Amino acid sequence: MIQETGLTVWFTGLSGAGKTTISRAVAEQLRRQGRKVEVLDGDVVREFLTKGLGFSREDRDENVRRIAFVASLLTRNGVIVLVSAISPYRQMREHVRQLIGNFVEVYVQAPLAVCEQRDVKGLYKKARAGQIKNFTGIDDPYEPPEQPEVLCPTDQETVEESVARVMRHLEVELDYPVFPQPLTVGH
Ligand code: ADP
Repeated sequence: MIQETGLTVWFTGLSGAGKTTISRAVAEQLRRQGRKVEVLDGDVVREFLTKGLGFSREDRDENVRRIAFVASLLTRNGVIVLVSAISPYRQMREHVRQLIGNFVEVYVQAPLAVCEQRDVKGLYKKARAGQIKNFTGIDDPYEPPEQPEVLCPTDQETVEESVARVMRHLEVELDYPVFPQPLTVGH
């Protein structure tokens, strides 16, 4: 059996920046290429794997630690893991990078004002009204990556452009053919 190279692609950024949108579209493209892909989406993960955890620094780090553990298992088994999680603390993201090894950090970047304007899940409104505490960007910190492998400024480009940006990077990381190239005979 050919052991394919596993990889974790970690999308970090504010709520509403575009992590879920981009990671799902990237997953679809990779699947179409015949690759093994798994998506670990922050919102879904919090319903199952990390149910019960809150939004203190300790709980956020624990959330990320558990996601990273699953991602590392999948990665070492040749899966491309797409994680989308706010993961606001730099130190924890660096820890995850070391733990997983084959790791690509994608900073999905949009100004707070843009995320708030989009308010995809209506959470900013609630946070501003004081109905949600410890909301990243409002009354909880977000530490942007200093040297992400990929930067997607989603307030300045379309979803398609962001997806293409990530795919271009992955093509370099995954520089092996999924299907054996047909032998060319003759010429
Ligand atoms: P997050 O997962 O970071 O909370 P979502 O993906 O749920 O964010 O929402 C991002 C919103 O921003 C979507 O409504 C999406 O259509 C929009 N959007 C606009 N431009 C982009 C882009 N370049 N990349 C990703 N999303 C974008």
